[in-house]
Amino acid sequence: MAFQYWNEAIETMPRSELESLQITKLKEVIRRSIRSPFYKKRLAKTGINTPDDIKTLNDLKRIPFTTKQDLRDGFPYGFLSISREEVVRLHASSGTTGTPTTIYFSRDDLKQWASFMARCIYSTGCTKADVFQNMINYGLFTGGLGFHAGAEEVGMLVIPSGSGNTARQFRLMQDFGTTVVHATPSFLLHVESKMKEEGVSRKSLCLKRAFAGAEPYSEDTRRRIEELLGIDVYNSYGLSEMNGPGVAFECQCKNGLHIWEDGYIAEIVDPETLENVPEGTRGELVITILCREATPILRYRTRDLTGFIPGPCPCGRTHRRLYRIAGRSDDMLIINGVNVFPSQIEEVIMAIQEVGNNYLIEIDKEGVLDRLTVKTEVTPAMFMDDTRPLNALKEKIRRTLQTSITLNPRVELHESGSLPVSEGKAVRVKDLRPRDL
Ligand code: AMP
Ligand code: ZN
Repeated sequence: MAFQYWNEAIETMPRSELESLQITKLKEVIRRSIRSPFYKKRLAKTGINTPDDIKTLNDLKRIPFTTKQDLRDGFPYGFLSISREEVVRLHASSGTTGTPTTIYFSRDDLKQWASFMARCIYSTGCTKADVFQNMINYGLFTGGLGFHAGAEEVGMLVIPSGSGNTARQFRLMQDFGTTVVHATPSFLLHVESKMKEEGVSRKSLCLKRAFAGAEPYSEDTRRRIEELLGIDVYNSYGLSEMNGPGVAFECQCKNGLHIWEDGYIAEIVDPETLENVPEGTRGELVITILCREATPILRYRTRDLTGFIPGPCPCGRTHRRLYRIAGRSDDMLIINGVNVFPSQIEEVIMAIQEVGNNYLIEIDKEGVLDRLTVKTEVTPAMFMDDTRPLNALKEKIRRTLQTSITLNPRVELHESGSLPVSEGKAVRVKDLRPRDL
């Protein structure tokens, strides 16, 4: 296989040079971090007060982890390390209610992000001859604009189609000869079943590749999409706190995701002891971002479970590879690509007076898409045979949830005291989705 590199010198840099580059960049990040109110305070406690206090990569370990809660506590500008006037864009984590986690970008940050994205896209063999249809949410979610900018940087013809509306997606694919798409794996499966339903023949499309990410999926699911659509599927990993997509991506070898170590310092820690684990062992991914000036984040606990794959990749890139993300070390659910914490659902439904004391969150599959069902008890004052107020309540719960978590759940109402009560710790989430499709 002939491999192509967007930035060969960086992508194939010997590890010792790559590590020196990380130290140089880390010093710069420390210099900037001290300008943000959050890190000014936090770093003062660690004895790291100037970039010169960083001598080796090990010195990073003197800095405590940063958590999602820290980011929330720092809302809105606690992590900002440049002046407000220098900020040109913000993004926020998907599906959050209450205090969002917001990330700011300078003009240069956007350029760097686009260049990392271009590197990912190019590493899968795409060129400017490709037509790229970005079938993912644009907006606060980073997947839309992130991929968009990277694909333009490569020089592909970009169709910013956004997600949903398969009939329109097929029209665009046929009209412009789309060769590459980006979507969540569940949307790709949905596209395939709609193809059959709408009588779109595979031959009428020019599809060759897809980038799939934003939610966990198995190797079997990848293979299934590849076979059904007759394309190559590449795993794409990122998170808004670390810019969004462009953190780690599969190359043409499709055997793990290269994490770009000139942009990110990655560690794998045991989620219980928080100690670093040896290469090859799985644990929680912790990342320090080196490629953003506006919002530095040091040692961020991603909560994503993965590990470093030992040994080099045949593609010649020296940046280490991560295993496919296996899940999370917290209770965050990813439903059709949208992040939801059970506590967010609880917050919304418990604020509604007619809702009783017990509830259950169920996630299963409807066809290939995820389906969220929220079952709640009603207060004893509500009569189960009086359908009008019950229907009104159902609709109220559905609408309130849709506004806050951006998903449209099914709502089921149950008589007071009728939902199962678990002994001990309440089990309120039932994830019935098969692990392997
Ligand atoms: P967001 O900040 O909304 O972009 O969501 C980021 C989260 O989505 C990550 O922390 C992961 O839990 C999940 N995620 C993103 N890409 C993948 C992927 N390729 N495989 C598994 N999970 C992913
Ligand atoms: Zn590779």
